[in-house]
Formats: sequence, structure tokens, C-alpha cells
Amino acid sequence: MFRFPTRFAARATWRHACPMVMAAMLLTWACDNPTVVRPDFAYDPTALTGGLLYRWSTGAKVRVFVEPMAAGSADLAVAVQRAVQSWNAVPQGREFTLDVASNRDVADVIVYDRSVAQPVATGSCPFNPSGAAGYTYFCPLNGRAERLRPIAATVLTAAIVIRVDMTTTATQSALDALVAHEIGHAVGIGGHSPQASDVMFTRPTVSTPTERDRNTLRNLLGRAADITL
Ligand SMILES: [Zn+2]
Repeated sequence: MFRFPTRFAARATWRHACPMVMAAMLLTWACDNPTVVRPDFAYDPTALTGGLLYRWSTGAKVRVFVEPMAAGSADLAVAVQRAVQSWNAVPQGREFTLDVASNRDVADVIVYDRSVAQPVATGSCPFNPSGAAGYTYFCPLNGRAERLRPIAATVLTAAIVIRVDMTTTATQSALDALVAHEIGHAVGIGGHSPQASDVMFTRPTVSTPTERDRNTLRNLLGRAADITL
């Protein structure tokens, strides 16, 4: 489900799972680089944001930090590592690179489980992950994502916060699918696939982006952003 804000210019949140809340262009890298031909998207990557496209600035190194937690049957850090690897394989150039960070205070994306304290101070938008298996949050502010302050840090660094509820995922593969889906939102897919076999289906069961997921991301990476993360 997507919780559409009353005034989108200032706020956008979306959430995933139960209940789920949340023209091709050619991209020229630079004058002396070849034009990249983009595939059509398989589903609308702006359906959850009222038609607004968001993504990282081209060439961004996106640091992803996983909040430590007690060991359990499934490992959140492993799921994030796998998601980072599989989404990094999708861009046709170097539009973004996800890296797992070891320091929360320099992270662009912070991932945590419901069982640990919220690691980031709330931004200007409502932050309400309750009831969601996965919840990806950023807050648009003047065409950018508002920077959020990790708890105990003095600087504003994080643009995106992802909260998962691991009590909703019984196995590592179920957690992998959930995390892959949320990271898909974090790299610019602001929509859900209607096809159950896709990672970006509302209740994903696979963790490797399908051709449809890949084409959708490749398409949006070639378009101008309305909101730069
Ligand atoms: Zn979702």
C-alpha cells in the first residue's frame, strides 16, 4: 500500500506489505561517451509517487548501513548484502553503486529491524511503519531527499530509512525477497509490479530482479529526476 501525502511537495512515504502502503529517454553520459539505449519499463516506477520520478544523482556511491541486531534464524546483513549485489548488477553504466557501510554516521541508507530502536531521527514527513513487513522512507524537500540525522550523530547524512519486520519472514529466502524489494524502492522504483514473479510485486517471493524489474530500473535511470535522493 502507498500512503499518499496530502501535500506531496513536502511529503512522501510509502510502505510495503501487509498492509502495503507506498516515455523512454536516451541518456547521454557526456559529450564523448556513447548514448545508452534504454529499455521500456515493465511497470510504472512512479505509480506510488504521483508520477514523480526519484533517483540518486548519476554516479552516486550509495552507502548502506545495516543496524546490528541479535543473531537469529535469518540474517538481515546477509539479505542486504545480497540485495546490494543483485541491484548493483542492473545499471547499464555507473548510475549508482551500492556499498555496504560499516559506519552508520556516513550512511545514505539505513536498514534496521523492528526489534531494535529506530536509529535515525524522524524527518519532516510522517514516519509510520507500523503494520508493514517492510517500509521505505524518504522525505522530499525542495527537489531533494531531506537528510536525516542518525541517533547520536551530529551531522545529517541518511536520505533513506528502511525498516523491516523480521517476524513476518520465516526464512532467509523470505527475508532476502523482502529486503531486495525495499532496496528496489531505495534505488528509484517508486512503484509495484502487478506480476507475482517480480521482486517489485507487493508481496515478493523472489530476491533476484527479473528482466521486468531490471528494465524498469534501467528505464528510470535514463530519465530526469523530479526528486534527487
Ligand atoms: Zn513496496
